[in-house]
Amino acid sequence: MSGELKPETIVFFENRLTPLSEARVGILTHALGFGTGVFEGIRGYWNERENQLFLMRPREHFERWKQNCGILRIEVPPTAAELSELTADLVRRNGYRGDVYIKPLAYKSSQRIGIHMDDQNAFAIVPMPAPVYLDSSQGLHAGVSSWRRIEDNAIPGRAKICGSYVNGVLASDEARHNGFDEAILLTEAGHVAEAASSNIFLVRHGKLITPAASENILEGITRASVMALAREELHLDVVERPVDRSELYVCDEIFFTGTMVEVAPVVRVDHRPVGSGEIGPVTAGLRHLYGQAAHGRLEAWRHWLMPVYERVPAAAGK
Ligand code: PMP
Repeated sequence: MSGELKPETIVFFENRLTPLSEARVGILTHALGFGTGVFEGIRGYWNERENQLFLMRPREHFERWKQNCGILRIEVPPTAAELSELTADLVRRNGYRGDVYIKPLAYKSSQRIGIHMDDQNAFAIVPMPAPVYLDSSQGLHAGVSSWRRIEDNAIPGRAKICGSYVNGVLASDEARHNGFDEAILLTEAGHVAEAASSNIFLVRHGKLITPAASENILEGITRASVMALAREELHLDVVERPVDRSELYVCDEIFFTGTMVEVAPVVRVDHRPVGSGEIGPVTAGLRHLYGQAAHGRLEAWRHWLMPVYERVPAAAGK
């Protein structure tokens, strides 16, 4: 999938369907000046055999979006179910038959200079072919960033607030200039929080370990999915607890999770091999399971998925 964004792409903007090329905001928009937007990222997976496109947990994404918009006092009136339907409709109208990525964005829309917030809000939903983000097939080399993860009482990191992404942008920019594929950010207390735009997991003594929600992480939906798969399918203990930086150097496996990166193995951290330096068995197993579940190939997890196209009964026997 190339991820090319065509100007004629049909998007939802200012309460109507419009071509992407016409979905524009003014230079004095509050969200542009002060970062007062909240976005989401949702993926859809194409299943060739069923001739079907499945949206991955759209309701959970829209529930999170609506809750996080509340932090900025932005109201998105439709329900999560209505937003999911609207998204499926957009995907159908664009005729996508391949993996897709959908970006909902709610924002403070008034045109003015002052920092104080008012109640002028707007939201948009932009669908696109899934972009290639980070090729992790051979495993990634991650570096601990000199930038610290934003604190909840500065800008809440649990919400996908536009302005807060400067934190991840600075960290990943530094990481790339230093020769790493991705950055890992520590909290002000020195604990591992997450990567620039994904959550982090470690495997140690046979347990799956991930920083808790109170470690200034974004509460990832892929994180929740992977925890469920680890518990139910692999019968692993999953522990949410503080993780020291040096634990990254002594654990057996590390991987990132996120809508974009899916399950991405990390094989080196700060120039040290992670475990054997190869992609580990737990990571490989979870990566496979997640891919199977997201494509609708695991019956037990089909409830995560929303089919976009009308089902054709003859092809539904898989
Ligand atoms: N952390 C950050 C900072 C992110 O931007 C993302 C991507 N949304 C994640 C974690 C992973 O979240 P999710 O699995 O819901 O995509």
